[in-house]
Amino acid sequence: MLLTISTTHQPASDLGYVLHKHPDRFQSVKLAIGQAHIFYPTCSDEEASIALLLDVDPIDMVRGNKRKMSGSFALQQYVNDRPYVASSFMSVAIAKAFSTAMNGRCTGKPELADVVFPLQVKISVLPAAKGGENLIRALFEPLGYSVDCKRLTLDEKFPEWGESRFYEVSLTHNLRMSELLSHLYVMIPVLDNDKHYYVAESEIDKLLEKGEGWLGQHPHKEQIIKRYFLGLKGFSRKAKEQLAANEPQEEVDVSEADAAIKKPRLHQQRLELAKKQLLEAGAKTVIDLGCGEGKLLRMLKKESQFTKIVGMDISYSELLKAKERLRWEEMSDRQKERMDLFQGSLTYKDDRLSGFDGAAIIEVIEHLDENRLKAFERVVFEHARPKTIVLSTPNADYNALYEQLSAGSMRHSDHRFEWSRAEFKAWTEKIKGKYQYDYNILPVGELDEQYGAPSQMAVLTRIENDN
Ligand code: SAH
Repeated sequence: MLLTISTTHQPASDLGYVLHKHPDRFQSVKLAIGQAHIFYPTCSDEEASIALLLDVDPIDMVRGNKRKMSGSFALQQYVNDRPYVASSFMSVAIAKAFSTAMNGRCTGKPELADVVFPLQVKISVLPAAKGGENLIRALFEPLGYSVDCKRLTLDEKFPEWGESRFYEVSLTHNLRMSELLSHLYVMIPVLDNDKHYYVAESEIDKLLEKGEGWLGQHPHKEQIIKRYFLGLKGFSRKAKEQLAANEPQEEVDVSEADAAIKKPRLHQQRLELAKKQLLEAGAKTVIDLGCGEGKLLRMLKKESQFTKIVGMDISYSELLKAKERLRWEEMSDRQKERMDLFQGSLTYKDDRLSGFDGAAIIEVIEHLDENRLKAFERVVFEHARPKTIVLSTPNADYNALYEQLSAGSMRHSDHRFEWSRAEFKAWTEKIKGKYQYDYNILPVGELDEQYGAPSQMAVLTRIENDN
């Protein structure tokens, strides 16, 4: 199985720098199931081409992975296409052979990491299960590639046997090397629709890391995720949720030229109110669920009443920002004891969310898919069950006052729903009945007589005696 990457960038020999592979050396890296060889079929100043040749050992493969390869017929583990086609083995080889380039670094000539190269990739045998050429095009063309596909015959000596299910594919595009490698890393196994190893939870992070900057906007992201996880619904769903949360929070916001000034003020008001309610409830240990970049955490940190302050978010990049905002590195050991940040999802039961006096869930629920709300409710009100919960969400009634919002549209591109005051009240009422929480709903922001305030906050208090 052969993959080549060629460029006409001048000098073309820069390919050796950007991929960290010296053109004069034949190199090999060891893989769990064989080796990958790296060499340059051509390398001049005008044109250079690097080849990655996979040499999969079919015996290693059977030894290492008996259960997976034992298929529907007795010899399947010995007789199959795996050693000869581009598959997840190729992704592993790419990641291993070109890890520095894939991470967007170039030690020899750092500036090359950001250079857009004219690149052509040839993949000698690419499967495209359930989709064929259309699928190959649907995956690569939205990323800007020109795609050329040739379907391979089963055996050139016996043309009457017809065509195989494999393609020789050429992809041409101008882009950074790290982008190219990330695209290949994800798309090859997606096309193959199979994996040589068991899909584990850690794959979610890998996919999101390699998909950063492009997967979120890909028109077929759902299909890519589904196939990447071999149709495993739990993983796909988590990956989708995390991907949505990682997308830049692009505000389609809201009315008037002073929106930019108004908006932070409104948000500040929400956070102040949340803090005040938690203080008044006498909470000592608090958790901010969907803490984002940690604005509220920073405010809570200043209050000595809070002895334990924890932030949780689904988005790793938001947590990194929170860490920075809290000046984590400069914190004393005692402060570090007092505070904690971790990645998690509000739609999966999690013991780490239990045992707190208070929880804040500020402008988060409208980001959850409506069909995941039930899971969210159980996670928070049935399992975590803090004494006090402050939860805020936009008031959709108020949208009528935002001139730039057309009727029925929402304030933010990632909002899945926005509730009117009546809908929010109905929901909290349901929570009260189902999970024994009293509630009080407070307006947040400037009050309009007809439409209420821009945001609404419920302070939910666990009805005692329910233990
Ligand atoms: N509470 C913060 C951030 C609000 S933005 C504040 O008021 O400033 C919404 C946040 O919810 C984002 O940081 C997003 O990553 C997070 N989020 C979205 N879905 C989530 C989920 N399922 N579990 C946990 N956090 C989630």
